[in-house]
Amino acid sequence: MELSQSLRALIKPPTIEGPPLNDQGRDQQGSGSDDESQNSNNPEDSKVEDTKLPIPNNPNDGTDPDENKKSELSRDEEDPDKSQDDKILAIWEEHKEVRAAIKSQRRIRQKTEAERIYQSLTATQKRAMELAQRKGASSVYTTLPLTKYGFSFARKRDFRDLIRMRYKLHIPDLPVECACGESYSLDHSQTCRMGGFIALRHDEPKNLFGRLASRVFRDVEIEPNLDPLSGEELDYKSANRRPDARSDVRVRGFWGNRQDAFFEFRVFNPFASSYASKSVDAMFSSASQARKREYAQRINRVNNASFTPMILASTGGTGNEMSMALKVLAEKLAEKTDEAYSQVMGDIRARFSYAIARSSLVCLRGSRSLWTNTDLIKEHNNSSSRLLMAETSRY
Ligand SMILES: [Zn+2]
Repeated sequence: MELSQSLRALIKPPTIEGPPLNDQGRDQQGSGSDDESQNSNNPEDSKVEDTKLPIPNNPNDGTDPDENKKSELSRDEEDPDKSQDDKILAIWEEHKEVRAAIKSQRRIRQKTEAERIYQSLTATQKRAMELAQRKGASSVYTTLPLTKYGFSFARKRDFRDLIRMRYKLHIPDLPVECACGESYSLDHSQTCRMGGFIALRHDEPKNLFGRLASRVFRDVEIEPNLDPLSGEELDYKSANRRPDARSDVRVRGFWGNRQDAFFEFRVFNPFASSYASKSVDAMFSSASQARKREYAQRINRVNNASFTPMILASTGGTGNEMSMALKVLAEKLAEKTDEAYSQVMGDIRARFSYAIARSSLVCLRGSRSLWTNTDLIKEHNNSSSRLLMAETSRY
């Protein structure tokens, strides 16, 4: 029914002056619609209209023409649009295979072209391309730039910087030396802890996730304390044994039971030299394993709760566990707001994408010297509060 309605909107049925009385009448209608298809800008339209005349299985080919004419007449009198829709649908069905073949040929062509381009790239560019294809890594570039939702950047330079960061191209006008004494570069900007920008980049997705979760879960806590150890043994050297240990976010009942679920965020720079030999998937899974070794056992054993590492690349893109968590969150939010899941998911991905993009820009351009130029931070906070307002009005 939905298909038929959208088709009707797409292909305007020809004007019918009174019900068609016989086959000839219908043919005239058909030629009338040819004129209309010439005015149409959509090639699909004319294709469908052109092939409309020879309809197979015409009910009027039956042995008793009078009776058939009568039933045809009454049917058309009932709803002329319906019989028109049936014809269009029949043609649409008939051409299904042709359309599928065209699509698959196009896909093969694009795949071959992408492979050719990929092979001509340097190792770093190859990595950049793989990262750009990661789920959620392109939301900033595919979302409508609507300022009222916080989906925009204040300056032209921001967007250019982002594209250059994404494909590891030269970024102009960077300082020569960092306030920490090392020479300044894109990679250094995404790892240097001076100025607190790296901490800010980690807090953004953490707070965003907490806020969104609190719209659909009652018991949500940011930076919850973990229960202290009382003699429990933890296997891993890197396990967090501190008495004042905290996690990033706690949500009771997140995974569909009454248990607490703890989430720990990590934003990493995928171009860091320590990852050079790893594939993109291996980078995400090694970051996730590191987080699990730190927290999972303690949280499972001491807090009797589940642990989920939330891994993001500073270029955008999320790890598998985080993708799963966002899926659950989107399902809940969609249920609450009665919106389509795909729309809510798109919105959530765009929010995380913008949060990371903005923080990465602050890491890149924010001054780390004592005489800090705080404009970027102010701008960052303004955009964050715009995002927050849009969120509050929606969920
Ligand atoms: Zn530095």
